[in-house]
Amino acid sequence: MTPENAYIEVAVALPVYKTFTYSVPQELLPFISTGKRILIPFGRRRVTGYVLGTATEITSGEIKHILDVLDEEPLFPQSMIPFFQWISDYYKHPLGDAIKNGLPGGLTLYDYASIALTKAGKRALQDHGTSPIERNVLMLLEAGPVRLKNLSRKLGRIIPAALIQSLQRDGRISSIRELKAAATKTRMERFVSLADAKLPLDRLSKPRKKIMAVLKSEGEIPVAELRKQVPSAPRLIRALENDGYLKIRHKRVYRDPFGESIAPDSAPDLNVEQRNAVAQITGCLDHGYTTFLLQGVTGSGKTEVYMQVAAETLSKGKRVLVLVPEIALITQMERRFRARFGERIAVLHSGLSAGERYDQWSRILKQEADIAIGARSAIFAPLADIGLIVVDEEHDTSYKQENNLRYNARDLAVVRAKLNDCVALLGSATPSLQSRYNASAKKFIEVKLEARIQSRPLPHIEIVDLRQEMGYRGVRRFITPVLQQAITDSLQRKEQVLLFLNRRGFANLALCASCGNPLRCKRCDISLTFHQKANAFKCHYCGFSCAATSNCQICGSSDIKKLGLGTEKIEIAINELFPNARIARMDRDTTIRKGAIVKLLKGLRDRTVDILIGTQMIAKGHDYPGITVVGIICADLSLNFPDFRAGERTFQLLAQVSGRAGRGASPGRVILQTYNPDHFSIMAAKNQDFNSFFDQEMRFRKALNYPPFSRMIQLKISGKDKLKTKEQALNLGDLCKGLKATSPSDYDSIEIMGPIEASFAKIANRFRWQILLKGMQAGALHKFIGQLLADRPKAFHNQQVRVVIDVDPISLL
Ligand code: ADP
Ligand code: ZN
Ligand code: ZN
Repeated sequence: MTPENAYIEVAVALPVYKTFTYSVPQELLPFISTGKRILIPFGRRRVTGYVLGTATEITSGEIKHILDVLDEEPLFPQSMIPFFQWISDYYKHPLGDAIKNGLPGGLTLYDYASIALTKAGKRALQDHGTSPIERNVLMLLEAGPVRLKNLSRKLGRIIPAALIQSLQRDGRISSIRELKAAATKTRMERFVSLADAKLPLDRLSKPRKKIMAVLKSEGEIPVAELRKQVPSAPRLIRALENDGYLKIRHKRVYRDPFGESIAPDSAPDLNVEQRNAVAQITGCLDHGYTTFLLQGVTGSGKTEVYMQVAAETLSKGKRVLVLVPEIALITQMERRFRARFGERIAVLHSGLSAGERYDQWSRILKQEADIAIGARSAIFAPLADIGLIVVDEEHDTSYKQENNLRYNARDLAVVRAKLNDCVALLGSATPSLQSRYNASAKKFIEVKLEARIQSRPLPHIEIVDLRQEMGYRGVRRFITPVLQQAITDSLQRKEQVLLFLNRRGFANLALCASCGNPLRCKRCDISLTFHQKANAFKCHYCGFSCAATSNCQICGSSDIKKLGLGTEKIEIAINELFPNARIARMDRDTTIRKGAIVKLLKGLRDRTVDILIGTQMIAKGHDYPGITVVGIICADLSLNFPDFRAGERTFQLLAQVSGRAGRGASPGRVILQTYNPDHFSIMAAKNQDFNSFFDQEMRFRKALNYPPFSRMIQLKISGKDKLKTKEQALNLGDLCKGLKATSPSDYDSIEIMGPIEASFAKIANRFRWQILLKGMQAGALHKFIGQLLADRPKAFHNQQVRVVIDVDPISLL
C-alpha cells in the first residue's frame, strides 16, 4: 500500500459481515500496511480491525480516523485475504472474526504498561539516526517513565504502537510493567561481536583478552554462550563496548519447540509405487491447481512421498504446508521432516505456549521457514507463495473445528490450493467417503500405494466374538483368553502391545443399586463417568466433576454400582494380569500436562513401554516397529453412535489402529473383539478391504440421500432458558419453511429437517435444539442460508438464544 492512499478497507473483529472504510491520519501513514491490526473507533467503542488494503470505493458519509497501528509487521500476507473472504462467505462467519480466528491467540499488545528510557535510549538522543518522532518520545521519557496510554496525549500527537515496539526491540526504551500479552512478547537475547580487531590488546586484563579471543574465533555469539567460556563476561562487556572493542546487539531468538536435536537423514530409494506417485504429483507442480488423493495402505510409505514432493516444491522456490490431525502425530511428522529438511521448518499447534506459537508464526512470515507443519489451525499459516499443501490422514474428523469458526481444514486445504494455483495432496489409508467420491467424480486425481514397504504383509486380523465369552464377569470378560495369550507371547518375544479402547475413565455407567437411576451430570443430559485415580465422577462433555462418594440424585442411596468400561479400568486389569510388564496409558486424562504425549511416545520408541493402552490417540499414524500385537478391546463403542457416519468412523478407526501392528521386521497380529462380528464395517476392517466398505456404505448413503450425495447445514440452537430456546427453534423453523415456500423454484431441492430437540438435549446448562438443512446442490443451500441471514439477521443474533450455523457438519448430536 502506498502512503498516499489515506483510505483503507478494514475488517472489524465483531459479528458484522461488512467491511468498513477508515481514513489514516498523516502521522500513522508510514506505519500502515495490509495485514496489520489497527485500533479503530466503532460506534462508541474502540475495537481491533484488520487492514485489508486500500479502500476501493469510498463510502459516503462520515469516515472516521483510525486511532493506532498495533503491529510493527503485518500478521499475514496479502495473498491470504481472498482466502479469509472465501471462508467468511462459505461458513457464514463475520470476516474480521474469521481473521481473528486464524491468527495465533494472545496478540493483544495494546495495553497500559509504562515505558522508560534506557541507557541506549539516552545515547540515541545524541544520535543523528533517530527520527523526529522517535526523538519526541525519547525526550519525553528523559523526565521519567510514562504510561503508554498517556503517551499520545502528552505529546499531542498519535504515537503508533508499532513505533513503540521497534524502540523497545532496539533496547532504546524498556517497558516497566509487563505487557498484558507478555507471553507472546518476542524473546530478545544480547549478542556480542568484535567492533575493532585492530585495537591493541596488551593493556587488557586476562579475562578481557580471553573475551576478545573468543569473539575473534567464533564471531558474533550470545552473551550467555560467551559466559560459559568467560564467567565474568556479562560484567565486562559493557566497558569493552564503551572503549570501542566490541558491539552489543539485542537480537531476536526463537524458542525451540523441539526437545532434542535430530540427526539428518537422506531420502531412501523409493519403491516402484512410491516413485510413480511422486512422479505423477511432481509433474503437476507449477501447473496450477490440482488435488491428489493418495490412498496408501498403512505402512506403505506415504510420508516418504510427501517429503519427496515437498523437496521438489522447495526446489522450485515455493513453500509447503503440511497438516497433521493430532499433536501426537505432529511430533512424528516434524521429526521426519526435520531430519530431512533441517531448520527451515515451523511448527504450529495448540501444544505450544502462546509465545512459542507467535515465534513460529513470525518465522513463517519472515520467510525464515518454508515448511509449516501443524494441526488444523495451521491451515492459516501465513505462508506466501505456497506450492504444496499436504493433508495427512485426511479422513480424520479432528480437522473439523467444532466451535467458533466451524471450518474443516481438509476442505480449506483444497480451497487454499485453488486460490493459490497449487497442489493439494490428501493422504490416507482409509479416505473419507467425501474424498473418495470426489476422486470417482474426477475432481481429485487418485494415486494408490497398495503394498507395505519392503513387501511387509498387512497384519493378520482375527475376530473374537464377545457374545461367546461368558466365562468371566466384569472387565475380565474383555481380556479374552485369545487376547491374553497374544499379549503373553508378544511380551516373551520382547515385542510391544497396543490395547485400544475408545473410552477413557474407569466406568462410564454409574447406576444407583436401589432405584436404577444413572448418575447424571448436573449441567448436561449425560451420564457421568467414574475416574478411579481422580476418585470422582466426571462429565466428559462439560468437565463437571463430583466426589466419588456422591449419593443417588433421585433416592439418596449411597449404593452406586460402577458399570461399564474405560481405559483406566483396562489398565488396572492388565497390571494385575501382567505384573512384570511396563504399562502405560495414553488418553486425554494422562496427556493434560504439556510434553506428556511426547514422553509416552518416546517410551514406545525407546522400548521402555511394553504395553500401551489408549483411546483413539493411539490409533493414528504412529510408526513404531516394535509393535506386533494390537488388541481392540471392544470395537462396538463407536458403532452404536446415533450418527449416519458411525459406520465410516468405526471402519476408519479399526483399520487405522490395526495398521499400527507389524510395521517392523516381525509380522503383526490384531485381535479384534466385538459384539457385532457380522456388521459390514467390522467385516471390512477385518478383511482390510476399503473398496467393499466403500461400495456398501455408498449404497446406504445414496438410499438415504446423505453426504456425499447431498450437502448439509445444521443450525444449532441453544440457550439457558428451556422455553425460550424451544420457541426460537420453532420460530427459525417457520422462517426456513416460509423462505422455501416463497421461491420454490430456487429452493425446491432443499429439505428442512426439524426443528427437533438435540440427541444430547442439554449440555453445560444449555438446552439444545437443531434444524438440519439438506440440499442436493451446495449452491442452492448456501444461497438459502445466505438469504435467511440477510432477511432475518435478528433471528440469528438473539440475546438469550444462540444460533450457530454449522456448514458441512460432522457432529450432528
Ligand atoms: P504410512 O504413512 O503410509 O503408514 P510411513 O510413511 O510411516 O507409512 O512409512 C512406513 C515406514 O517405512 C517408515 O518407517 C518409513 O521410514 C519407511 N519407508 C518409507 N519408504 C521407504 C523406502 N522407500 N525404503 C525404505 N523404507 C521406507
Ligand atoms: Zn456435563
Ligand atoms: Zn437411587
